[in-house]
Amino acid sequence: MLSERINSVEDIKQLFPKTPQEIERDTAQYLEQEQKAIDALIAISKAERTFANTAKALDDLVSRSDLSLKETLFAVTEYLHPDKAMRDAAHTALEKTQAFGVEQISNNKKLYEAFKAYAEGNAKTESLNNEQRYFIEETLKDFKRAGLDLSDEKLAQVRELKKKLQKLSMEFSRTIAQDESSIAVTRDALCGLSDEFIETLKKTEDENYILGVDYPTYFHVAEYCAYEPTRKQLFEAFSSRAYPINEQILKDIIALRHELAQMLGYESFAALNLESQMIKTPERAQEFLNDLHEKAAIKDSLELDAFIAELPESVVLTADQKVKAWDQSFLKACYKQKHFNIDEQKIAEYFPMENTIAQLLDIYRQFLGVEFKEVPVSGMWDKDVKLIQVYNNDGSELYGYLFLDLHPRPNKYSHACHIGIVPAIKREDGSRLPAVSVVVANFTQPTKDKPSLLKRTEVSTFFHEFGHALHAQLGATQLGSCAGTHVKTDFVEMPSQMLEEWLWDKDILKKVSKHYKTGESLPDETIDNIIAMKRYDSGGFVTRQVMLAQYALDLFNAGAQKDPYAVLYELLPKVLPRIEYGSKYRLFANFGHLTGYGAKYYGYLWSKVFALDLFDTIAQHGLLNPEIGNRYVTEILAKGGSADPNELLKNFLGREPRQDAFIRDLGL
Ligand SMILES: [Zn+2]
Repeated sequence: MLSERINSVEDIKQLFPKTPQEIERDTAQYLEQEQKAIDALIAISKAERTFANTAKALDDLVSRSDLSLKETLFAVTEYLHPDKAMRDAAHTALEKTQAFGVEQISNNKKLYEAFKAYAEGNAKTESLNNEQRYFIEETLKDFKRAGLDLSDEKLAQVRELKKKLQKLSMEFSRTIAQDESSIAVTRDALCGLSDEFIETLKKTEDENYILGVDYPTYFHVAEYCAYEPTRKQLFEAFSSRAYPINEQILKDIIALRHELAQMLGYESFAALNLESQMIKTPERAQEFLNDLHEKAAIKDSLELDAFIAELPESVVLTADQKVKAWDQSFLKACYKQKHFNIDEQKIAEYFPMENTIAQLLDIYRQFLGVEFKEVPVSGMWDKDVKLIQVYNNDGSELYGYLFLDLHPRPNKYSHACHIGIVPAIKREDGSRLPAVSVVVANFTQPTKDKPSLLKRTEVSTFFHEFGHALHAQLGATQLGSCAGTHVKTDFVEMPSQMLEEWLWDKDILKKVSKHYKTGESLPDETIDNIIAMKRYDSGGFVTRQVMLAQYALDLFNAGAQKDPYAVLYELLPKVLPRIEYGSKYRLFANFGHLTGYGAKYYGYLWSKVFALDLFDTIAQHGLLNPEIGNRYVTEILAKGGSADPNELLKNFLGREPRQDAFIRDLGL
């Protein structure tokens, strides 16, 4: 396997496709190779089946084979490559490999029967460890959920549905990623924005300024532009990304997912989607969201009262006293400036990207007992891509390779994310196979006289994505499909959300910050203000997350025909009754998680409850305490998806998880 032959940076570079022709050639070659491996697995007789030749062989097929490796590389290419021909070739290749995966693996009855023959036969007597047993149980459940107990005819229909769905999901993401909408406004319409920001903007032929819908531009304008029509216009452009194309795609996805669920014997796609999760049913997800909303709404309302008590000049409420959605960020920014004496742009001067990265790595070095080494790399998909090697604390053992692609550019994936390429493996004899993964972000570009200065939200995003990256890099399971971040979706955000909490600690903020000119840390007073500010909009944040989670749940509850616009506009006044969205809030077209996460968006809040519980426990020992850090690595990160997350949590906490820390964090 290619992933077992990675011994140098050069080896990894070789893995990335260089031309569209190579992508096409690789796809054909590795599909054939994968098919042979599947056939060989099926051909083994029942008596001869072992964990190695059946279960491990299946694990390799889905997580470590050359085809699955190429598949993640194609995904990286589609998300990040600057050349359209490369992105298109990767897209086509992914369509093929994913369709193959449905046809020949997840919905292959012969493969299922081979696996079942082992699980119900020799597995009963073979000596297996907990990870191996858990893998067998979960895989059997997955196969059943995929409909492998259905008749051949029905199964063929399921397969067709899944292929169509995969294609549509890819289209949905691609349409969002490739949206390059912008608006053009006069110089006057940019009032409130700094000259420096304005200088970075491109102009139209008639000297108007172009505002794109990329994250840094959108959020900056939303917070600081003192001219309402500009805020409104950009909000509508941002909220209309991928519209109208994705509206129809989403309707098709909803209808097909419902059909799929029905064929598999579930009442709704949400029921099918949640069965494998910690939360298990849509009813429990609903209860969880109702409960949180009830608490958060009280806090949210108090916050809004405070925000609108002193309205800034350019903000006017609607006739029924609602805040317009495009005024929200500006209103909050003004409130913050006034009451906490916080100027996020000034604070950003203390977070030049290079130093922030160095400090972030130093925190992980101390807390998790790992070492990092930046190595020069060239010839990747973009000249600014960096590479970090991750080692154990004395540098004797390589855990993995981590690429960083941190600035926006045209046609790049527009959110922040972490993409795993090669899973981390720890073999039975203790030897490791290094992980390879990428952290993607879209941080403010450096200008000619300033380095890239990160806003606190960007620093927080960085900590978040690094949480995923370390989960992947520090994985130490024997099976690739259990490695690191390969956990249940409603648990996967736990490590990343937990690491965001480090940024609310005084000593940590002191340590991470360094003014790009003076070299000084953030003043004590500013830090106190930041910490005092932690909960100023916690109610607003949680209610918005509840809205997103509820929307995902509503779209995928029973029913094939849904009007995403109508569902959204029915939900908004219930969850966010004091916000006016106008008529052009088209969340359904650009809420990217609706495909991958499906009904599981509640998982962010669900795992945040655990994240805060764990953080609370760790904070009692000290945020840089290597002993508790080590326990966190061994009990949680290293275990990845090799055991039930409830068990991992209980082992680490020494008790059942609790909601207390989360509620306290709301500020109630
Ligand atoms: Zn995340």
